[in-house]
Amino acid sequence: MTTSTDMQAAQHSALKLSIITPIYNEEENIPLLFERLDAVLRPMKRGYEIIMVNDGSRDGSLAALRRLAEQHPEVKVIDLKRNSGQTAALMCGIDHSTGDIIIPIDADLQNDPADIPNLLVKIDEGYDVVSGWRRDRKDAAIRRNFVSSVANLVISRISGVHLRDYGCSLKAYRRSVLEGVRLYGEMHRFVPIYASWMGAKITEIPVRHHPRLHGKSSYGLERVVKVILDLIVVKFLDRHLVKPIYVFGGFGMLSVAISFLTLLWALYLKLVEGLSLIQTPLPLLSAMAFLIGITAILLGLMSEILVRTYFESQDKRPYYVRERINL
Ligand code: UDP
Ligand code: MG
Repeated sequence: MTTSTDMQAAQHSALKLSIITPIYNEEENIPLLFERLDAVLRPMKRGYEIIMVNDGSRDGSLAALRRLAEQHPEVKVIDLKRNSGQTAALMCGIDHSTGDIIIPIDADLQNDPADIPNLLVKIDEGYDVVSGWRRDRKDAAIRRNFVSSVANLVISRISGVHLRDYGCSLKAYRRSVLEGVRLYGEMHRFVPIYASWMGAKITEIPVRHHPRLHGKSSYGLERVVKVILDLIVVKFLDRHLVKPIYVFGGFGMLSVAISFLTLLWALYLKLVEGLSLIQTPLPLLSAMAFLIGITAILLGLMSEILVRTYFESQDKRPYYVRERINL
């Protein structure tokens, strides 16, 4: 007799996995990564594919990938014409994937393929996004770990989606949450946030983390600036994509109001107190606030045009349907 949990398990194992690894100068890591992935995935009795995206590597990565793909049909390789960055490479892998569950993982073995089954347990429990948390992170203490823990707090506060480690590449997504998600810049770390805003169920589990043994990290401190700017963009796009004039125009009107108030004040000082207009900085302030205000309102109008092009050229809608009944 099959119990309902057996049937559930059978259903779950029917979900195909797409493992996606962006690769930039990882020639020594590629064979090792494949070995570890293979050791974890093969016994699981699920359908799977391993998509390796060569992001314009300058070393022997492509040759290593070709060798692997020759021997293993489940390894699919995409070679990008030039280096486009980790997020873009990941996006490319997602675009070419066919699995029901998407699992990005770094190629440098800092993430451990042995954690994949733990992520899947949570997916099988019904979560849409399972994010890895590098509890015991093996990167430079101050330059990486400290900076990133501050960044994690900020992102958590601003986004209202509370994870402890946004930057961990190892995550698992149900394909449905990635539909329509386009990633730019450093945005791959914000996908759980975005998904959660759209109503996805997300959770976080501790995963192992290892020091990099071969090759070197492609990132330094400059990434912090990019991440902060991307966070502003994500936040802005979420709240105001449909009506940017409310943000630009709101700021513009405030600035124009300040301009009028400073002008009135200057006139008051001149007419009542007898202070000449050139004796205070107020007229200058008023003129500047006026210019800034008008410019902001014009920028808002410009953004409205852009937003219309965005929605209408791609046939996008300003709402997201979860379900339709009797339709
Ligand atoms: N990566 C990439 N393109 C790049 C930089 C990095 O595809 O321009 C890949 C890299 O090969 C690795 C992952 O992205 O698989 C994470 O990169 P890295 O280990 O340098 O980042 P860190 O672990 O230091 O944050
Ligand atoms: Mg790394």
